[in-house]
Amino acid sequence: MARHIVCLTFDFDTESGFIARGWYSPTPLSRGEFGVMASGRILRTLKERDISSTWFVPGFTIESHPAACEAVVAGGHEVAHHSWAHVPPAQQSRDEEAEDMGRANRAIEKLTGKKARGYRSPSWDLSENTIDLLIGEGMEYDSSLMGSDYLPAWARRGDAVKLGEPIRYGENTDLVEMPITWSLDDFPHFEFVRTAEATLPGLQSARHVMDSWWDEFVYMQKTVEWGILTYTMHPYVIGRGYRMLALEGLLDRLADADAIFMTMEDAAREARRRLSG
Ligand SMILES: [Zn+2]
Repeated sequence: MARHIVCLTFDFDTESGFIARGWYSPTPLSRGEFGVMASGRILRTLKERDISSTWFVPGFTIESHPAACEAVVAGGHEVAHHSWAHVPPAQQSRDEEAEDMGRANRAIEKLTGKKARGYRSPSWDLSENTIDLLIGEGMEYDSSLMGSDYLPAWARRGDAVKLGEPIRYGENTDLVEMPITWSLDDFPHFEFVRTAEATLPGLQSARHVMDSWWDEFVYMQKTVEWGILTYTMHPYVIGRGYRMLALEGLLDRLADADAIFMTMEDAAREARRRLSG
């Protein structure tokens, strides 16, 4: 029997991503702050459709905006790990990464009563230590890698990579990898970012982006009997009015096409049973 699962995931960064990049001036900070009010309208949209989702919440957001995070929990959504300070692990020493990971998990435990089951790295850049540290924290899944699309796999550790030599894959761990891709992330499609090095134009038509996201679901239905499709959104990005309208249209279309909306925690457990069986 065909089963096509959709995980709606929200990276609730608020100001943390801007601060991690050193953008402390009022306007970039306010851009992240918009996520706080936008989270309320997203929660309403999900509640109207009885959809459970997963929120990757940095410890920064939990401690800066507790009421908004309590509303996520009250809505029955999963709270997952997204670091404390939104510094990409690839930029941290092992000790720095471990300390930040533990601090964020303590904040999640205080908010929800239990530690996170899943993790997504800030800016999707794992370090060579991340998988080890996640296993040490008792995580069940990671959602930061792009080596698959609809079919989760075991996360590996210890890949050997050297310029001029073939890649040698390391060993499988028992951490489930829930694949992601920038093409199903709202940020590069919509956000206008100008730095000294580059300009990301963003600002695309929300309806066009949602059409592409819909086509990805259609292709999953066409090619696999069972699969999981993960969309990644940020409240301060998707929460703008015309984007919300387009998102609502996508959610209704998916529901009409028998998409099964699940938290990533539940979807990862289903994936684990299949990978183990
Ligand atoms: Zn983030």
